[in-house]
Amino acid sequence: MERTLIILKPDTLHRNLVGRILTRFEDKGLRITALRMQWSSREQVERHYEVHRGKPFYDGLVEFMTAGPVILAVLEGPQAITVVRNLLGATDGRKAAPGTIRGDFGLDQRMNLVHASDGPETAKTEIELFFRPDEIVTYERATDRWVARPDGK
Ligand code: GDP
Ligand code: MG
Repeated sequence: MERTLIILKPDTLHRNLVGRILTRFEDKGLRITALRMQWSSREQVERHYEVHRGKPFYDGLVEFMTAGPVILAVLEGPQAITVVRNLLGATDGRKAAPGTIRGDFGLDQRMNLVHASDGPETAKTEIELFFRPDEIVTYERATDRWVARPDGK
């Protein structure tokens, strides 16, 4: 079982797509183990996107991510990191495959609706950046055994 961090970016909220996009993750069978809304500070966004500092799109990205509230969530499931990245599609909404979230809802490189961790290390760091341990809820759903088999083989 893996955990990954997602951020529904300000364009998702401004476009009233929160419910529809969260539904995509629920439909897939992923479990929401933490969920919060906030208007991120510049400092928090800069820490989160530290790896992109200095790139041509960095300033615009920070501007965008502080231009409205976001929804933060931790999703859990087998190979959740890869599964969620695949659900998002390519970074640029114009190039993302139809059927993916960015492919279905996005037409822009910056405003691409959702952030998701890209590997086990970043998932751990990002979850710790946005959530305290006691905000992450461990539970089982009655449907879990009909979603994925525990050994995954
Ligand atoms: P992601 O992992 O698919 O979200 O993409 P990256 O980690 O490479 O970039 C972080 C975020 O910066 C993206 O989700 C976009 O919002 C934005 N971004 C990335 N590349 C570009 C670009 O070339 N131009 C612009 N304007 N924004 C970009
Ligand atoms: Mg990234």
